Amino acid sequence: MMKIEPLYPKYESYLKDESGLTGEADGIVFPQNTEALATIMRTAAEDRRRLTLQGSRTGLVGGAVPGGGLVVNLSRMNRVLGLEKKGDKDLLHVEAGATLEAIALAAAPKGLSFVPNPTEQSATAGGMFAAGSCGLNGLRYGAGHRHVEALHWITPGGEIWQIRRGEYIFDESSCSLPGGRRIRCEEKWASLPRAARLPQKGQDLIDFLAGSGGRYGAVAGLWLNLLPRPRELWGVLYFFSETGSLIRFSEALLEWSKTPAGQQLTAAEYYDRATLELLAGARKRSSLLQKLPPLPAQRAAVYLELSGDDQGALESALLDNYELFCDAGGDEDDTWAVNSPTEVQRLQQLRHSVTELLNAASTAAAKEQGLPAGRLETDFTGPPEKLAQYLESYRSGLARAGVRGYLYGHLLQNNLHAALLPQDSAAWDRSQALIRQWGKKALQDNGLLISEHGEGRLKEGLLESLLPPEAIAARETLVARFTAL
Ligand SMILES: Cc1cc2nc3c(=O)[nH]c(=O)nc-3n(C[C@H](O)[C@H](O)[C@H](O)COP(=O)(O)OP(=O)(O)OC[C@H]3O[C@@H](n4cnc5c(N)ncnc54)[C@H](O)[C@@H]3O)c2cc1C
Repeated sequence: MMKIEPLYPKYESYLKDESGLTGEADGIVFPQNTEALATIMRTAAEDRRRLTLQGSRTGLVGGAVPGGGLVVNLSRMNRVLGLEKKGDKDLLHVEAGATLEAIALAAAPKGLSFVPNPTEQSATAGGMFAAGSCGLNGLRYGAGHRHVEALHWITPGGEIWQIRRGEYIFDESSCSLPGGRRIRCEEKWASLPRAARLPQKGQDLIDFLAGSGGRYGAVAGLWLNLLPRPRELWGVLYFFSETGSLIRFSEALLEWSKTPAGQQLTAAEYYDRATLELLAGARKRSSLLQKLPPLPAQRAAVYLELSGDDQGALESALLDNYELFCDAGGDEDDTWAVNSPTEVQRLQQLRHSVTELLNAASTAAAKEQGLPAGRLETDFTGPPEKLAQYLESYRSGLARAGVRGYLYGHLLQNNLHAALLPQDSAAWDRSQALIRQWGKKALQDNGLLISEHGEGRLKEGLLESLLPPEAIAARETLVARFTAL
């Protein structure tokens, strides 16, 4: 039988993740293989004991924060089991607790990589899958789970399934499952908002399970589709002093990204002025920032990555988008363009620093002001063609509410994160109202309320207040059906 250990004092930090929330639990268990995880889940189901699955606890929304019951931490199921050739695909088989760093290390000697480059490198493959994590290169490669070819999945009742991409697809009323059973869904669910994340006709079971934060079971192992690393990689940081030029550039870039030359664009990340100021303010204490030129003041920026194997085609694509930038009225003198791996990596780390700095700032601000713990940050996705409207609505909303806010994220996917740092409890209330107002807009546009950060305790109230009751009921029905399997 699996050893259940007390949380205090040794494992107290396992009650937290990067959301700023702290939970409670009766004990913690560290399964070391798939069978052990299945046994824990089966026993917990029989005893009706609540489980909280954890990878590396880098999640931003409290999905790994327990609310009683048992913590199941998968960090000791962290083996990289090997690279397999399947047709023309290179599949890396890993346990769910393998970190993205370990995956990158295993892939690199073969000239391969897990290209979506989804997130914080200490995150686990299972956490990345369960959170639906995206990351820098999501613009071209989609979320990390799109590159999962097969899974070992454990049902809430402790059954072990092997699921291969393409084998189990939802139709309008059900999906076949391993072992010859079916999971039922209702045809009327098709008319409910996409944001409810209910199954859609034609959807692969793997993609449906991704981003579900452990509601329908646990991932124990993954076969990741690795791709050859592109030979050439450029990182370009464009600065803008006027919102008008930024919007013109973004709109032109969106159209250009649909052309053959635009296929080389793999990342387009936005930083508003406040975010650049946050970075600039951290210069003294950041060795990364000290290696970069000072960030120009009073500017917003767009970071682009372009990659490919054909140097000539890539350079011509770079010139194309530089022209778009100049035509839009960007600040030509301030452009940074780099192509050595070390320099590109620094610009990627700059993006990463934003999340780190905001994590630290929001935890400190909540503590100082005596406000409820937990990051106040949006993860909405609207239609890409409405980007200008969304930018304006974030900007004017923050100004009206009088709340300190930072806007950054995936520009061309219109998945921008507005991180709010209220200065007192009245501003905290206004921040909540503002987040709901932005969420309503995303919902009206059939966008997403949760995109890459996954489901977690910080998002429960938002979903309940914005989704129609039928959508909430349908989500609960589906959990009950998976639990009853
Ligand atoms: C500095 C920083 C930068 C980040 N940048 C990005 C970014 O660019 N893009 C992005 O998308 N995210 C980003 N994140 C968020 C975070 O890294 C991701 O959500 C990550 O994928 C979570 O992985 P984890 O192993 O830490 O999972 P955890 O935080 O431990 O868990 C996340 C969720 O997955 C569930 N879970 C974990 N393992 C399993 C499993 N095996 N089976 C079923 N459910 C499981 C948990 O219950 C929880 O709901 C960032 C975080 C930090 C701290």
